[in-house]
Amino acid sequence: MKKCIILLLILATVGCSQKAEQAATETVDASTVPPSTIEKISAEVTPELSAQLVAADRLDGSEDKVVSKCASCALHMNGKEEFALELADYRLDFCSDFCQNNYREDGAGKLMALKIAAAPEAN
Ligand SMILES: [Zn+2]
Repeated sequence: MKKCIILLLILATVGCSQKAEQAATETVDASTVPPSTIEKISAEVTPELSAQLVAADRLDGSEDKVVSKCASCALHMNGKEEFALELADYRLDFCSDFCQNNYREDGAGKLMALKIAAAPEAN
């Protein structure tokens, strides 16, 4: 049983970026990035893309047009605002500059390729 949990922890940490995971636990200072400075991913906003963004947004538990999970890590890692990109009025937070760079090229296409689990129904 314990072995199983340890294995899961290892899988979770080697997945994307250990550095980013550690940094996420640090206190966030007041110098958060204003929305206007966030780099935009240019993309044609199709209904499918909008639906995908809504689904990704819901995953973090709040519909605030901020996808706080790293889309480049299939929404499994916590993203950070300092590695954000904007796509169709949504802010996508990535866990590292590596993941952010990944989405600079065809971010919309990559997002569309994600299989996003349905968010749990609110009670
Ligand atoms: Zn990532």
